[in-house]
Order: sequence, then structure tokens, then C-alpha cells
Amino acid sequence: MNTEILSKKYCNDLTSYSRYITREVRIGNIPLGGNNPIRIQSMTTTDTMDTIATVEQSIRIIEAGSDYIRITAPSLNEAKNLENIKKELRSRGYEAPLIADIHFTPNAAEMAARIVEKVRVNPGNYADKKKFNFIEYSDDTYESELVRIRQKFSPLVKICKEYGTAMRIGTNHGSLSDRIMSRFGDTPLGMVESALEFVRICEDLDYHEIVLSMKASNPKVMVEAYRLLINKMEEENMNYPLHLGVTEAGDGEDGRIKSAVGIGTLLEDGIGDTVRVSLTEEPEFEIPVAINLVNRYSVLRKAHKEIPVIIENPIDPFDFKRRETFDLEKDKIGGHNVPVVIISADEKIFKSYEGLKELGYFYSESLDKWNIGDIAPDFLYLRKKDIDYPLPGTLKKIFDYEFWKNIDSDELRENSFPLFTAGEYSESKIKSERINFVYVAIEDLTETFLNEVKNDKCCVLILSSENEHAMAEMRRVFIELINRDLKCPVIIKKSFDKAYNIADELLMLYSATDVGGLQLDGLSDGIWIDSESTSIKTINSVSFGILQATRTRISRTEYISCPSCGRTLFDLQETTAMIRKRTDHLKGVKIAIMGCIVNGPGEMADADYGYVGSGPGKITLYKGRDVMKKSINTEVAVNELINLIKENKDWIEKDN
Ligand code: SF4
Repeated sequence: MNTEILSKKYCNDLTSYSRYITREVRIGNIPLGGNNPIRIQSMTTTDTMDTIATVEQSIRIIEAGSDYIRITAPSLNEAKNLENIKKELRSRGYEAPLIADIHFTPNAAEMAARIVEKVRVNPGNYADKKKFNFIEYSDDTYESELVRIRQKFSPLVKICKEYGTAMRIGTNHGSLSDRIMSRFGDTPLGMVESALEFVRICEDLDYHEIVLSMKASNPKVMVEAYRLLINKMEEENMNYPLHLGVTEAGDGEDGRIKSAVGIGTLLEDGIGDTVRVSLTEEPEFEIPVAINLVNRYSVLRKAHKEIPVIIENPIDPFDFKRRETFDLEKDKIGGHNVPVVIISADEKIFKSYEGLKELGYFYSESLDKWNIGDIAPDFLYLRKKDIDYPLPGTLKKIFDYEFWKNIDSDELRENSFPLFTAGEYSESKIKSERINFVYVAIEDLTETFLNEVKNDKCCVLILSSENEHAMAEMRRVFIELINRDLKCPVIIKKSFDKAYNIADELLMLYSATDVGGLQLDGLSDGIWIDSESTSIKTINSVSFGILQATRTRISRTEYISCPSCGRTLFDLQETTAMIRKRTDHLKGVKIAIMGCIVNGPGEMADADYGYVGSGPGKITLYKGRDVMKKSINTEVAVNELINLIKENKDWIEKDN
């Protein structure tokens, strides 16, 4: 391996799957890290002072398959009540280790560490109250800040050591301290440094029962931060286990896709010892999603087909940069164009234009006009058959080459595109003058083929992989293309054949992992998901969801909603649904819905608007980081949010 690869190292190997082995940490009767299975966890949303409600919710989470239960302890009272919760759970026969979640309150942490098996602290707010101040720190003042943190944090470390309690040092992108922000900005490096400052204090006190996390609501930031953390830990001879999660991922399909893009991308490279999927839903619903993500990395994965080793890796894993490709301007593929979406036509589409409704194309016969939704694909794959009605101008046809070359109509031939196999492409004399799609897998990339396509500005590769470790194999292809300075655009194809009979949720999670991971590294120019057992409506929505989650093509309003916990001041699920209903047409606007003012403003990261619980029945509204309307009654708060969006000229009326 060359020095460049070593200096950017963040996993065991980019081509051969293996778990990145960390040190084992004792958490009650369920150890984490080392050779232990990847553990699953979730967090209660009940009031921690309500012992029975918390115990009953914990049991639902455990029975769904969770290894650990996290419970918020916002003050000393809740920390003390963890004792009652633990006793009640044990008396009902449940031994799952408990984790106390702490923000701002060292005294609650010190109490909880004597009771539960693990405490979670946020280094951004354990010793600091965030004021969003930019302060210039000299080396001396920075050093004296570290001394102050050491004084505040050391008592907790000593208690954990004495009681055999583990600790998660959990950085959140949105709640970095002013000190870290001033020196590193809200960057992945700032997140890593924020945790390592606390880890170094633990190590000085010879305490090592540590787990680390680097959460963000933007999967790209989160993935870069975890990769960088491993790289920096290696530099300092550390190997603490990692807790993976995307914060405030939201609910439903969006929440699942966002989580899979972030968590799945890391799991693919063998990173991660425990997973929490944060959804704005009942916490037990998070568990099957986490289990489905983790279960892909079984014996089969380890025995995957060999992938050629990498000699030189041109991809910077810590900094997104889109792969440079030819700009096929007329058809908007490659270059700086947003990634395109291809959908395989189903029977309904062949029957009538009504079938296109599923893909966001609505035809009005009376006006003889197409209305196009926000998530409407760019290409329709028709195999060997044409359809007998004209398509809207923004939707183009792809045919199998054998069919395309025999089309009589010049107009149709010019306005549709052939899909070749690599062999057909090499042999064919008849090609499109605009785009030739060529279906390839790693085996097709022979020296001859690569030379043929190198300077072909009409060639778009459709890349797929049958390898059990598909994401790594496709990444290997991209590395080869970049190293050879080959600039044809590439569309990633993820196929689930009928035999798979894949459930919608698995299709969502697997595609978001495999395609999303490559998308996060800036590698592809489009996606094509194919499954005979899933409706094209779902496939289309998942495709655009992946592009939204990777922030490579924005087509929807983005919701950053916290999963809720014992601090939550309103019904998050109901409110999120209400806000979504009124604002889901505001393409590109990011709205955060956060349960409490203690952590909400810090954790809503880069949202444009914030709806934050600030007291019982009270909401405070934010524009970016600024408070705009304080303590509004909940009954009028959604209307006030909409007024705020209107005042800032981000509102458009909904098409009905
Ligand atoms: S923002 Fe939400 S999840 Fe975070 S502490 Fe507040 S209520 Fe709990």
C-alpha cells in the first residue's frame, strides 16, 4: 500500500470485507466492540420520572431486539430515578444494560454513573454552555480552557472507573462547543477533536471503557467524521469502539434512507460496533431497521468474490469531491448536472399514459399539457418495445441496442438511446450521436474496452455488480476510471431480481447503502434501481430519496426532526406530520422540528427554520441560528412558522 493510502486509512481494506476490530468495552452483561456482534440500541421517549411508562417502553424496545436501552437524565431527579427503573426492569426479568443520556448536567452524570451500566456525554455541552460566540483563542487561553474541562470532567471519569461504568463520548455536529467552533469550524475535524479532547483526559486517568460517536443529520458530514476519527485514533494508538447513527433523520422513508446512507456506508467498510437508527417514530420501530442494516454483514459477506486490490486511491475519504466527467449538455448528464434517475417501465406505462402518474408525470387531456412533479425521472427504459403515446419532453427513452438499431423512424431513433452490452458496443458500427449507454460490470473493463471508451464523449456507462460486496466492487471500478483519466459519466445500477422478492423496506435500505455510499463520495452521475417485486412508484421515490439524503439532487423539503426523548415538550410525531402536510412542497427548504430548547437549537445544525419546544405548550421559532418568535402557544405555532417562512420569502403556494 502506498503512503497516500496509508495516510488516508480509515478501515482495514477497501476491497476485502472485514470488521475493523476495536477494543472490547464492558457494558454490563453485553460487551461491545472487539469480536462481539454489532450491537443494536434505541432510546426511550417517555418522561424518565414516569417509572412504569419508561419500563414498559424499554421492554417493547428490548423485545424488538435491542441490546441496550438509553434513557435521558436531564437533571439529578431523573438520574436518581434510573435506580427505580433499573430495579423494576430487573424484577420483570430484563437484564439489558441501561445507558443514561446526559447533556449539560455533570451532577446528573455523576449520579447516573453509579446506577447504570453506561453514561453518554456530549463533549460539546458537558463543560460548556453554548452561546454561539466566536472567540479568538490564543494557544494559552485554549490550553487554559482544556484545564477547566479536565477539572469538570475528571470526577465523572473517576466514578465510572470505580463503578465499572462505560462511557460514550458522543459528538454531535450541531452542538460543538464555541471553543471547537472557533478553532476548527463545524467541520468533521472539529467533531473528531471535540471527542479526542475528552478521550485524552480519560486515558490520562487510565480509564478505557470508552465508546465514541460522531453524529450529524447530514450523512455526508457524519461519514467523513467517523472515517477521520478512525484515522486520527490510529495516529494516537487508540481503537475505541464506534457507535453509529445519523441524528434527527426524520420519519418514514426519508428517515430510513438517510440512516441507511450514513450507517450503511460505514458498515460496508467494516466500521461500527453498535447502531442506533434515530427515527421520529415509536422507538421499537427503529430496531428492525437497525437489524436489517447490520444483518447484511454475515458469513456471506466475508466470503465475497475477490476484488482486485488498489494500488493508488485517488478518492479523498475525508472530503467530498465529485468525479470529473464529460458534460453531455443536451441531455444533462455528467459534468455539473445533477445526477439523473432512470426507471424501468412497467406494464401500466406500456398500456397508457396514465401509468406515468406513478412517476410524477400527469397529462391533462383538456389542456393537452404535461404537469411534472418534483420527483420525475429523466429516462425510461423500455427494453424491446415502444409505447404508443408521446412522452413529455423531459422524459427520454432507452431501448435495448438490438431493438434501437432497427427502428425505422429517424425521429424516434434520434430521440431515443441504445443500451449496449460491452461486447455489442465494441462491435457495433451504428451508434447514437448523443448518448450510448453501455452496461458494464468489473469483468468488462478490459484494456481494449477502456481504450475504446476513453475519448468517447457520447458514452455513458451503466455500472452494476453481482458481487456480495457490491459497493466496494463498484468503487474499485471508479478508482480504475479515475486513475486512467477516463471521464465518461457513470450511472450506478442496483438490481434486485424476482428471486429476491425483496420487501420495500429492504430495497430502501440496501439501495441507500450501496448507491448512497458511492454517491457520498461524489462518484456517480445517476442511479437506476430495478426490482420486479417493487412498484415503480416506490423505486422512483427511493431513487430521489437517496439523491436528497446525499444532497446531490434536492427535490423535496428536508425535515430534521429529533427522535424525541424524556425532555420532549410536545407530540413530535403528530407535529412533524402536521408541519410536513403544510410544507412538503417547499423544495430545498430545511425545517427542523426539535422537542426541547436545551438541545434542539444546537442539534438542528444547518436547518433554515427551526420549530423548537421551549416550555409546556410553548414553541420558539428560529430562522437559522436566530430566535425569531419566542414562546408562542402550540395551537398557533404551525401557522406562525408558515408566516415566518412567508416573511423570509421562502414560501410558495401549493399546487392543488
Ligand atoms: S432535541 Fe429532542 S431528542 Fe434531543 S434532547 Fe431535546 S427532545 Fe430529546
